[in-house]
Amino acid sequence: MEAKESCGVVGIISSEPVAVKLFYSMRTLQHRGQESAGMAVFQDGVSCVKGMGLVHEIFKKDDLQKLGGRAGIGHIRYSTSGESALHNAQPVVVSTAYGDIALGHNGDIVNADVLRKELHQKGWAFITTSDSEIIVRLLANAISESGDVVGALKSVMRMLVGSYSLVILVNGEVYAVRDPYGVRPLCIGRLPKGFIACSESVAVEILDGTFLRDVAPGEIIRLGKTGIKSYRGAGSRNPAHCMFEWVYFSRPDSVLQGRNVFRVRGNIGEILAKECPVDADMVFPIPDSGRAFAIGYSTESGIQFREGLIKNRYVERTFIMPEQEEREASVMLKLNPLKYLVKGKRVIVVDDSIVRGTTMRKIVQMLKSSGAKKVHLRIGCPPIIAPCYFGIDMKTRDQFIAAEKNLKGIAKKLAADSVGYVSIDGLVKAIGLPRKSLCLGCLTGEYPMAVPGEKQREQRSLNGFAKY
Ligand code: AMP
Repeated sequence: MEAKESCGVVGIISSEPVAVKLFYSMRTLQHRGQESAGMAVFQDGVSCVKGMGLVHEIFKKDDLQKLGGRAGIGHIRYSTSGESALHNAQPVVVSTAYGDIALGHNGDIVNADVLRKELHQKGWAFITTSDSEIIVRLLANAISESGDVVGALKSVMRMLVGSYSLVILVNGEVYAVRDPYGVRPLCIGRLPKGFIACSESVAVEILDGTFLRDVAPGEIIRLGKTGIKSYRGAGSRNPAHCMFEWVYFSRPDSVLQGRNVFRVRGNIGEILAKECPVDADMVFPIPDSGRAFAIGYSTESGIQFREGLIKNRYVERTFIMPEQEEREASVMLKLNPLKYLVKGKRVIVVDDSIVRGTTMRKIVQMLKSSGAKKVHLRIGCPPIIAPCYFGIDMKTRDQFIAAEKNLKGIAKKLAADSVGYVSIDGLVKAIGLPRKSLCLGCLTGEYPMAVPGEKQREQRSLNGFAKY
């Protein structure tokens, strides 16, 4: 399976060295990826360090303090069941006559295979199979021809179909680029001595910066020490922001498109309580992903909120483990019920989403064997029925528990007394953006742009972007 690129990116320019700042912001974005991380800084050329593991395992602050560059980018890569290897780590760096170019990418390029094939035919050789290498090579080629970075970015944007939030380091300058649909997040902030572009606003806050705004879909931003400059790279009439960023992926204290993630999750919980009420003694979350939803559910229903499951915070993500058995065992390692609390009680368990159902099935089993009288499941994401092609690791259709089952069938499979999902309308209302500006592809099977073999929300050709 090809690796999916759901990741975190950051770019900083400052009048001071940026390595330590990159380190802190990358640690802040760690939830966006735990497989590998890398940073590239510019000082008479690009120096790049990458490694496998968590940010603080790869970089030592003392070493970073010695790095002098005043412009740099960082990348955190998500672990998937795809190939997990250092050569997939980013930033990707290429040398050109114009200088070194480093790039960090969050997203998935849907036409990567087509582009790779075309370029192969022209005699280009590629070192990796990653989308990001294609982008940086196209860019390097275009910059070498014209010497104009913004013009080169515009021409590359016209070739790419898919999701991409990019940070690019070229000749000591940092650029931030967001695809015309704005699928994955990207924002900019002012730092005490410079500027930052990053996946989520929380990374601006921890550097004592001021959030400025989201990068607009199709926008190119050049960060300078004293200001930022915006260029229109490609136009977008209908953005397609990924709903899953609010539901699961982003940190609760981030603000995406003006909508705080924790608040959206709370709204979803309230709507869920209205849409799927049930009589029970207590409501509790699957920590930590379900917490904000459960608080909302409790507030709206008046059913008391409790913490009924205790989490071992030192156990890594179970979602990405390749074997079903291993995943199930890890759920037990990770979560354990408070038996005295749940014994003899009717409980509502709230989580953000069900994908394969592994986590939920195991939790219901644990709660029942701890003596819970009834276990009702309430889910803050409508049923996931279709794959994601734009950067979230959502498996193939046959793995989704919701793909062909009705609610009773799903409850039976999970051995729960009932299951309720928030509706798509409810989710859209909770986010507070117009439905047409969200990507709901994994919920509807209709995608904002052409994916081979899939339905499209609207027909838009690449040529459409060129006139902007
Ligand atoms: P599953 O056991 O396959 O149903 O996994 C569902 C749980 O994994 C959800 O409750 C989320 O907390 C988490 N999750 C959902 N999607 C992803 C993803 N793409 N990557 C990592 N974790 C995820």
